[in-house]
Amino acid sequence: MCPIPFALIQVIPFLSLSKASGSVTVIAMSSGHIVVVGGGAAGFFAAITCAEARPGARVTVLERSAQFLAKVRISGGGRCNVTHACFDPRELAARYPRGGRALLAPYEVFQARDTVAWFEARGVRLKTERDGRMFPVTDSSQTIIDCLLRAAENAGVKLRANSGVAGISKRTGGGFALALTGGERIECDRVLLATGGCRAAALGQLANSLGHTLEPPVPSLFTFHVDKTWVHELSGISVESVEASVPETGLRERGALLLTHWGLSGPVILRLSAWGARALHALGYRFPLRLNWLPHLDSEKIAAELRSLGAAQPARLIVNTPISPLPSRLWEKLVLAAGIPPDVRWSGLSRAAAHSLVQQLIRTETPVTGQSLNKDEFVTCGGVRLKEVNFKTMESRICPGLHFAGELLDIDGLTGGFNFQAAWTTGWIAGCAMAGNLE
Ligand SMILES: Cc1cc2nc3c(=O)[nH]c(=O)nc-3n(C[C@H](O)[C@H](O)[C@H](O)COP(=O)(O)OP(=O)(O)OC[C@H]3O[C@@H](n4cnc5c(N)ncnc54)[C@H](O)[C@@H]3O)c2cc1C
Repeated sequence: MCPIPFALIQVIPFLSLSKASGSVTVIAMSSGHIVVVGGGAAGFFAAITCAEARPGARVTVLERSAQFLAKVRISGGGRCNVTHACFDPRELAARYPRGGRALLAPYEVFQARDTVAWFEARGVRLKTERDGRMFPVTDSSQTIIDCLLRAAENAGVKLRANSGVAGISKRTGGGFALALTGGERIECDRVLLATGGCRAAALGQLANSLGHTLEPPVPSLFTFHVDKTWVHELSGISVESVEASVPETGLRERGALLLTHWGLSGPVILRLSAWGARALHALGYRFPLRLNWLPHLDSEKIAAELRSLGAAQPARLIVNTPISPLPSRLWEKLVLAAGIPPDVRWSGLSRAAAHSLVQQLIRTETPVTGQSLNKDEFVTCGGVRLKEVNFKTMESRICPGLHFAGELLDIDGLTGGFNFQAAWTTGWIAGCAMAGNLE
């Protein structure tokens, strides 16, 4: 069992926390009413944490759609990439283009290891893939949904679907009044907004109405459109390590690249899109992209490699003998783009042509003409301004009694389980704090 996190001892002096199970041991009881708006990952985690900590409390989740946890269901291609096997809070926080600094202290309290323990304590084992992504061993997001629904039920959380919140106001005597879309009015002592990413600014209206500012929303985790035949013709090819950069912005990332029938995708592009979400939006998603196909070698080493290839097989056609590890179809395109005709043999490679080939290998330039959402995972960059929230409690600094968790905040991570981790952590902290501040 881990020691009680210091930050939370200050906030919730009467709770003892067991991070090994991710649960909160109860000491005090309460009769207050806590409402969680949004039945997604963050809302469920907060509601369960709060209700487990204070069984006497009334905790209600209001979800506007007919289904709870809809994004969990479709996440990770239906497998739910729950978190990432990155157990150092500092390293974990470094995977967030927005919100990393704010998440550092919360990750000292509840990080990926705690997520693994939380699910394991409730009967769900996670496995780690080669790239660090963690999934339930069942490879089914339904396992995570079932676990969260069961935990909510066991903790006595009241779940209400088809209960969208249209408006929220502060009551004069303290607490909040919520107006539901069906006309019903609900009162509560504390409220958590966990309504997810605001893809349109209007979706932040509940937070706005209580005095909060939203950083304008733009997409993150998208793929690039490229209107070049050579790219489309290479659809389906992936290259394990490519360096992609946008010279206009200084953005530069390295990783696997996937060529598709509309352009470029894969981890390196998703990372560029995440770190460059605002800059690339400002460019209208039209910019020159530079690709280095052999980022582990400098131009002199590549030139030397070409010379040794030439010496070893002078009679072979250059287009047919790719440099390792490039796929042969890509190599052929690069050789032709360097101006080397298909019938030239290694023995006939001039110094100028060799130089042109090296340049092509380290600096293929292609214009990007637009973006598409990555269907496997996308998030919104933007949301509730972070300095308006106390990350020790996830409580508003503007409106006491109001808490935030999940993607509604101006937090978004790289692909790989980091977005759910932010939802679990902020939800858990908000849940603890709401339980502790009931009386
Ligand atoms: C296709 C896809 C796949 C993804 N896969 C992964 C993955 O594998 N791993 C990962 O880490 N991240 C993944 N993500 C990102 C991740 O799903 C989100 O970051 C995460 O779901 C955010 O959780 P949340 O609870 O803040 O918001 P959400 O999950 O969006 O939940 C918010 C809920 O609030 C409800 N709501 C909104 N407004 C109101 C209102 N006014 N009244 C009542 N209810 C309201 C919504 O209907 C919704 O159910 C994926 C995203 C997408 C789109």
